[in-house]
Amino acid sequence: MFADVIIEYNSKKLDKTFTYKIPDFLKKSLKTGMKVKVPFGKNTINGFVLKIKDNCNLDNIKNIIDIINPELVLNKELQDLGIYLKNKTLCSLVTAFQTMLPSTFKIDKNHDYTKYEKYIILKKSENEIINYINNTKFKKQIDILNLLLKEKKVSYKKLVSSSLTTLIKKNLVAVVKEEVYRINKDEVKKSNTLLTNEQLKVFNEIKLSLNNFNVFLLHGITGSGKTEIYFKLINEVIKNNKSAILLIPEISLTTQILERCYNFFGNNVAVLHSGLSSSEKYNEYQKILRDEVKVVVGTRSAVFSPLKNLGIIIIDEEHSENYKQDTNPRYNAKDIAKFRCKYNNIPLLLGSATPSLESASRAYKGVYKLLTLKNRVGFSILPKIEIVDMSEEAKKKNIIFSNILQTKIKEKLEKNEQVILLLNRRGYSTFITCQNCGYTYKCPNCDITLTYHKDGNLLKCHYCEYSKKIDELCPNCREKSLSYLGLGTEKLELEIKNKFKGAKVVRMDIDTTRKKNSIKNIIDDFANHKYDILLGTQMITKGFDFPLVTLVGVINADTSLNIPDFRSSERTFSQLLQASGRAGRKNKLGEVIIQTYNKDNYAIKNIINHNYINFFKEEMKIRKALKYPPYYYLTLIKIKSKDYNEALNNANKVSSFLHKNLKDVLILGPSPAALFKTNNLYRFQILLKYKDEEKIKIVLKKLDLIFLNIKKTFIEIDIDPLYT
Ligand code: ADP
Ligand code: ZN
Repeated sequence: MFADVIIEYNSKKLDKTFTYKIPDFLKKSLKTGMKVKVPFGKNTINGFVLKIKDNCNLDNIKNIIDIINPELVLNKELQDLGIYLKNKTLCSLVTAFQTMLPSTFKIDKNHDYTKYEKYIILKKSENEIINYINNTKFKKQIDILNLLLKEKKVSYKKLVSSSLTTLIKKNLVAVVKEEVYRINKDEVKKSNTLLTNEQLKVFNEIKLSLNNFNVFLLHGITGSGKTEIYFKLINEVIKNNKSAILLIPEISLTTQILERCYNFFGNNVAVLHSGLSSSEKYNEYQKILRDEVKVVVGTRSAVFSPLKNLGIIIIDEEHSENYKQDTNPRYNAKDIAKFRCKYNNIPLLLGSATPSLESASRAYKGVYKLLTLKNRVGFSILPKIEIVDMSEEAKKKNIIFSNILQTKIKEKLEKNEQVILLLNRRGYSTFITCQNCGYTYKCPNCDITLTYHKDGNLLKCHYCEYSKKIDELCPNCREKSLSYLGLGTEKLELEIKNKFKGAKVVRMDIDTTRKKNSIKNIIDDFANHKYDILLGTQMITKGFDFPLVTLVGVINADTSLNIPDFRSSERTFSQLLQASGRAGRKNKLGEVIIQTYNKDNYAIKNIINHNYINFFKEEMKIRKALKYPPYYYLTLIKIKSKDYNEALNNANKVSSFLHKNLKDVLILGPSPAALFKTNNLYRFQILLKYKDEEKIKIVLKKLDLIFLNIKKTFIEIDIDPLYT
């Protein structure tokens, strides 16, 4: 017997199968989808078995060396999914397979991740033990034996003592090892919330369709009880003896949802996200492979979980950009989920308070089924939102805080309530310039200005690792006239402490959350009212529920609006609405103040009345006029090289290749990429806009192959990019 094996060698030139002989000792156990060790050239390498066959007409065929992990088998669905992923993103098949497995399985480290627990059991018959008890005077030994007579198996930790050692020596008891999981959640507090009528309608509609493929878009405002519906649906699915995947954008920021999930499903849940240690990840994955859990909760890559008999996939906060992977293979978990739901003939549920334009337009057209929740559960009502024109405030010399924001913060502090302030820029000062000669600090490796961090007194590049100490004098004209412009969170923190003396302030951004658990600690402390004001970057807007927060202030709504990208308005609108959702969660009226220089921009104006539909309509008009998604599909091709001329010449070559081979496609560029130079790589880009997805794939595949042979220049093809 022979096996076709695709090897783990990351070159697209080797993206094909090689045939090996199956040695006798593996004939019974080897299955397709298994990972094996094979000889390759002078080395050994790992690979996946794609096909097992009886005949082969090649000579000199080498033997498979061994199976790497008999538990790890890519089932038929995942094998097919691998081929889909390859076609969708143009990656190699082996990359697709590797992407679907947790990193702990990718490398053969010969590492045993299994955790064992030691137990004590009796080695002799009950009569012999009782006999021993009756004839000994050692009380401690008697206690141990009595306990074992009753419980049969007791944790070693509980019994460890010199008496135990004696009993082991006398061969009356023995130590046994048993495999245990690292994450265990036994307690199940089955909460029995009754769904409201509005929730029930949504629930029933999906329940009726549990045995069909359908995509549902649940558009429900923040706090409308979407998560509660997810749990009830998963419960239904489990009752039918099927399984469920619940995807959430970032688990570190959503510990609340995970806790609720454990309460609901206890040990029936496996969790997969990057915050787990390798061994925890291994354990959780084992639970899935062994068919011991029915629910998987996790971030993007959990969509590949090899659950058997899948019954539903739910994607919470479906608008989140985290569902798209920004390295090769550039897949979107939403596409993968759609493939799997179609494959299994089951529903896909997308939920959000601010659905992506793509999903919303499909729902309004009837391609997806639209479900809505218009009310918050209980008494909490949506916050009152006010827009402040900062160009007016600037005349009063208010650069950071408008009068109204200052007054409101003071008011809330006096009432002992809490405040959240959003500023989407980290560091102290984002732009340093010399007042005398106009010099500005730029990164030597990248085409951007350096940000000043007071902590460490460093100028840092936010794109590469470059950093340097700040100079006292201008490096160009040697005058002492450097001025620090551009507000970052670090400076905002100091400004707040100066202005609101006595207020307890905590900052949350990448710089304050590098250590493990630091996010959780900040969140817990703020929830316990150890702080009055939480300030930070967009990290603070996601999914939190702080009952005492009655004011959310957005210091500068324009930071995301001013990024030159066709999705900037959508991102701004979504972020502002999500941030607003943090105010007034429990019975207290919340207030939101948004400071901006663009008060008439529709992304900002439509926030006032939480008017998603209006925003949607205006944004769709622009997308249509400018030929962007959801009216057109996009592919972004980047051509990168350390050598400027190489990059430019090859970009022109790509462009003429595309012009020759594509019809009915708009080809824009080559033009310098938004970040033209990062990490010393020059980057040109070409943007394609088109209506027919399939035709273009063939041409892109050809292009990719041509570039395998071009040295010193890389090409990156991003199909359905998030940023252009
Ligand atoms: P969303 O996911 O839409 O933000 P959640 O499901 O988190 O909303 O619900 C918001 C709050 O309301 C949570 O504290 C949740 O426990 C509670 N809740 C949801 N549904 C109900 C219900 N039917 N009865 C009582 N409380 C509910
Ligand atoms: Zn840099």
